[in-house]
Amino acid sequence: MAASLVFKLHDRGPEVVREVLLERGWEEYDEGQQEEEDWNLYWRGSTFCNSEYLKLLPWQRLNHHPKTAGITRKDFLARNLRRMRASLGSALYDFSPTAFILPNDYTRFLAEYNKLRPTRGSPVYWICKPVDLSRGRGIFIFEDIRDLVYDCSVIVQRYISNPLLISGYKFDLRIYVCVKSFHPLTVYIHQEGLVRFATEKYNLSSLHNLYSHLTNTSINKSGPYYKTKKERVGQGCKWTMSKFRHFLYSQDIDELQLWQRINNIVTLTLLTIAPTVPSCPNCVELFGFDILIDGKFKPWLLEVNYSPALTLDCQADITVKKGLISDLIDLMNYSSTDSLRERAYHKQRYKQPCCHADKPAHVSVPVLSKRKESKFRKKTSKVYTSQTQALPLLKNSHQSEKINQRRAFVTDYHRHLPLVDLNKIYGATAANGQGFPPLRVGDFIRTFPFNTATLKASQHKLDVKTVIQELQKLTAEMASGQSDKTKRRREEKEVKKDTEAEEDFDSLFWGPRDPPLLSQCFNTT
Ligand code: ADP
Repeated sequence: MAASLVFKLHDRGPEVVREVLLERGWEEYDEGQQEEEDWNLYWRGSTFCNSEYLKLLPWQRLNHHPKTAGITRKDFLARNLRRMRASLGSALYDFSPTAFILPNDYTRFLAEYNKLRPTRGSPVYWICKPVDLSRGRGIFIFEDIRDLVYDCSVIVQRYISNPLLISGYKFDLRIYVCVKSFHPLTVYIHQEGLVRFATEKYNLSSLHNLYSHLTNTSINKSGPYYKTKKERVGQGCKWTMSKFRHFLYSQDIDELQLWQRINNIVTLTLLTIAPTVPSCPNCVELFGFDILIDGKFKPWLLEVNYSPALTLDCQADITVKKGLISDLIDLMNYSSTDSLRERAYHKQRYKQPCCHADKPAHVSVPVLSKRKESKFRKKTSKVYTSQTQALPLLKNSHQSEKINQRRAFVTDYHRHLPLVDLNKIYGATAANGQGFPPLRVGDFIRTFPFNTATLKASQHKLDVKTVIQELQKLTAEMASGQSDKTKRRREEKEVKKDTEAEEDFDSLFWGPRDPPLLSQCFNTT
């Protein structure tokens, strides 16, 4: 019988990852009992260093891709979105509030502040956030520039002052996005997510009241009304996305257009970094996108979280996060049997380096830059002969000793570790033969690539222009198909109302159980 898969958690957390994996029969890595490489998944909240990517063996995965700070740090995100706006047009990249990185952009901010300063009519508000803090720490809202005081690098962003409210409470959406691969770009959005509420009613005349203006759980948990049963919102400060969707439905709001706009935001944001993220097929990334919906149903991107919180504070957390992690593991495609790897072992293909030249490029594990890689190859080629090339991971002067250790380990891993279905990992060509990754894994829905053109545009060097053209086509098709759909839906609902009792509040799914490609949704008349 195959041994259990092994996971390694940095700093003993997060608990929900441990819980899900243990429930699925995984084993926790034990330094004292196991070999250094005896794990299949290493999970950590912070970044991995370059050497950890270099040392990766074919059956090992990390929960972060390298070099994604371009969207996960507030200032880098602001800069990258500005760059995309300049090259691709502000109409396309109009989903994030105007932002300035201070102190560098102070003069530009001042000019904008003065331009927007109302002589009469509605006031303009700004929000100031430290660039490298999270969970609402150090954030404040202001109207008058004299209230802008900062002692570290901050971003000042236009404050969305007309948020959509539920019973007077502000909320934002935490959308979970899994980038399964950057090369080719493969993106899944989880249909279940969280709605995070402020715990005091929205009030623009009390800008200092963080419980009214911020939706971070870490802030609201300590608020005086956290435990109070609040009108419609209920106790605490979170809903599941299903509950929110039910709310939209009950208000007769057609959500399809909203989700499509959110999908666009996710894709367009990822496009800002996708061409520069090194290829690392053994990595996966779970981002938390924070989206605020305004009173006109326009979704705004507030920020992208590198390690979205996985703490379980309430029932909504348990429902959403346990399912999320479980689906993420499924998406990673671990399998307890792997004939491919076993065959490779018997043919002694394990002796080949992971990044052997005759292997397809997408199988290469290391994340070295081209220059570093050729340097590295030159170095290692002196040590290995073609027959004895073990694994290209050895860097120090005790190489021959290490090679032997490694060889012994490679022979041994067969005993120690369960087998992983490399065919599924690397040959992501779907059963439909078109090369599409699966459309749905658990509640993860593939949002990119979304048609043949975007699949082709992402297969080699990412063709950002083509992707954007396709996205625009899709959005236009959607806009024209939308009015008919809304009408049809209203009629259907009227009939239903007469015949059905009140539906179970949490039973509504994000979409059809097996959703068609988004592009197909809008081709029908
Ligand atoms: P943090 O990383 O500290 O959580 P965020 O950018 O997510 O920082 O902001 C925290 C909260 O502040 C958000 O969840 C949201 O409620 C509110 N917020 C942030 N930016 C804006 C904005 N531009 N307009 C309106 N509300 C905002």
